[in-house]
Amino acid sequence: MRWLLLVATLIGSSICGREKFLGDQVFRINVRNGDEISKLSWLVNSDNFKLNVWKSPSTFGRPVDVLVPSVSVQSVKSFLASQGLEYSVTIEDLQIYHEMDSIATDFPDLASRVKIGCSFEKRPMYVLKFSAGRGGQRRPAMWLNAGIHSREWVSQATAIWTARKIASDYQKDPALTSILEKMDIFLLPVANPDGYVYTQTHNRMWRKTRSFNPGSPCVGTDPNRNWNASFAGQGTSANPCSEVYHGPHANSEVEVKSVVDFIQNHGNFKCFIDLHSYSQLLMYPYGYTVKKARDADELDEVAQRAAKALASVSGTEYQVGPTCTTVYPASGSSIDWAYDNGIKYAFTFELRDTGHYGFLLPANQIIPTAEETWLGLKTIMEHVRDHLY
Ligand SMILES: [Zn+2]
Repeated sequence: MRWLLLVATLIGSSICGREKFLGDQVFRINVRNGDEISKLSWLVNSDNFKLNVWKSPSTFGRPVDVLVPSVSVQSVKSFLASQGLEYSVTIEDLQIYHEMDSIATDFPDLASRVKIGCSFEKRPMYVLKFSAGRGGQRRPAMWLNAGIHSREWVSQATAIWTARKIASDYQKDPALTSILEKMDIFLLPVANPDGYVYTQTHNRMWRKTRSFNPGSPCVGTDPNRNWNASFAGQGTSANPCSEVYHGPHANSEVEVKSVVDFIQNHGNFKCFIDLHSYSQLLMYPYGYTVKKARDADELDEVAQRAAKALASVSGTEYQVGPTCTTVYPASGSSIDWAYDNGIKYAFTFELRDTGHYGFLLPANQIIPTAEETWLGLKTIMEHVRDHLY
């Protein structure tokens, strides 16, 4: 019994439980006769499963590739099993987690995937680490965060585009190369994985985590009101049904706690950037007070330059300033926590647009958004590189 418990504990410490599952999957289904073709045709033509056929059923013996949205994975599996159709899953987790794997595989000398914890619903939280350093010393580091608010889809997309940009431009772009020669970059593209899945399966507008609130019918905490920086102060709510519910205590959300623990254990972070959408703003501390941050003048100067670089791509205009007076008071936010814990270069981007599409920014704006944001990010990273403290 004790042995079993030990095994369970060991497994528990290394596996979240939903290692492979974040988004959609690709199934390869075998069809051996006309009967199986008609069963499969029924499946792919049914509105219930919302399948997307990559390779159509044609002749026997040729497998059919079908994209299955995450919400239908279980029901499609049951259908295939009940009908005796053979299948294999060829691409698990088509979306962001798969791309993180590919980046780490394509650039093994620079990029690696690090698991920093498990979400409330037991999804793994992966960070991409970019390090050109040798040996095990803790080099100065930058943290890039995205998707803490799950419905802000252009932030996760921009982060994953940025990850591949960092990996492929290293040793090609002199500015980026010199940044990586001095510092490591850690990038968390999906800071709220449960919320992100929920926006794909149930409610596109979901913002919070998916943790339970005992005694309340409402689910979730605003993970960007949950950090230990003037926790439960102005710009938050004590009502679990509110979109800005701060949670029962600071770091109550395991997604926040995992980042806090990782950053504190590392101990040498110099920069923390959080990507959100929308509004086209570039902000720095504080959100919890109108009081001017000690380094406000320097942060403002860097942010103004970053906004100018960003605008140089296609004229996208950003407003720059401290969170509290630029948007609204917000306590318990990530960048205020970072700043109050000695990470001087702390910024929040609110990406495109200014409200025309809002959270539902069309897909054809993802790459233009990522490209312009990259120049803003690089401006900040170059400043950090030249002003290590
Ligand atoms: Zn946000």
